[in-house]
Amino acid sequence: MTDVLRVDPANPDKELIARAAECLRAGGLVAFPTETVYGLGAHALDRRAIQRLFAAKERPAHDPLIVHIAAVDDMVPLVVEVPSAARELAARFWPGPLTMVLPRSSRVPDEITAGLATVAIRVPSHPIARALIAYAGLPVAAPSANLFSRPSPTRASHVLADLDGRIDIIIDGGPTDVGLESTVIDLSVNPPTVLRPGAVDIEALRDVLPDVTSRHTASSDTIAMRSPGLLRKHYSPRTPVVLYEGDREAALRSMKHEAQQRVDRGELVAALLFADDVSELRSSPVRIVDLGREDDPAAVASRLYAALRECDDLSANIILVRNITTAHPLSGAIQDRLRRASLTPDT
Ligand code: AMP
Ligand code: MG
Repeated sequence: MTDVLRVDPANPDKELIARAAECLRAGGLVAFPTETVYGLGAHALDRRAIQRLFAAKERPAHDPLIVHIAAVDDMVPLVVEVPSAARELAARFWPGPLTMVLPRSSRVPDEITAGLATVAIRVPSHPIARALIAYAGLPVAAPSANLFSRPSPTRASHVLADLDGRIDIIIDGGPTDVGLESTVIDLSVNPPTVLRPGAVDIEALRDVLPDVTSRHTASSDTIAMRSPGLLRKHYSPRTPVVLYEGDREAALRSMKHEAQQRVDRGELVAALLFADDVSELRSSPVRIVDLGREDDPAAVASRLYAALRECDDLSANIILVRNITTAHPLSGAIQDRLRRASLTPDT
């Protein structure tokens, strides 16, 4: 029922893209690669298509979608006005992994915004995403192409595992580049506020808008203070995750202790480990999944969700993981996703 179309990102096949674009225009659901993660696309101005999208993902209706467009001027019909701050950010970061939240126009269906007075918009840079949106000639609503509350898909096989038979087409354009969702900045408030950290970090945003602030902080206790759409456990495997924060030696010591106690109780323990930590746990009977080198956060980000899915596939009782400590623009986003993955389901 779900067609998989293999498309070369370096040279997207026009006929295949046109077929997927026609499916979107007709109200169908098309998963496609973006530079962040795979998105599940639907015609953003077609309420029935959006309802099908929410049903396919089992996504709760109170979680708003990001609308993907081809160019900054395509924002005009979707928003009350395009403020100069949006144009400045677009000039610097679009196409790319930055989503802007702005007061919406009446053309945007309530289904997209979960009834909010604002809409989230982005111009992706991935050549397949760009070609698809341009061919469709539409704004394309596209949340991550996973079942709700599973890790976002960074490969077509992840999309197939979650959504086979529930959607019309998957465009397989190979693994995604960044591996984490876009940075979300709210321009409807003063000062502009980062709602979700991503590949575009706050310092880069401040180069353009010096007063940008963040609702996100480095502390895990403040995670519950964020906006409703960002509150819950999210981006997470089915297996519970225990996260160790801070200093490497102390975190590894606690992790080894917990692993041993659980193994002694007869549990199957999965450890998601940075490459340099693997030797520390190799002698213990835990199942190790390698997360890449801690000093290469771009590689860790691009591998994180695939690694969480690999852990899930082990059917372990628990996943143990240490948070990244490297100072790098991507580290805040990686820390954020690991913290959310480790929240209990009712937080
Ligand atoms: P996803 O596309 O699955 O990565 O999720 C989209 C996320 O974008 C939502 O969960 C919200 O966190 C955020 N978002 C979308 N629309 C809005 C909005 N109008 N206001 C604030 N955040 C939004
Ligand atoms: Mg998502």
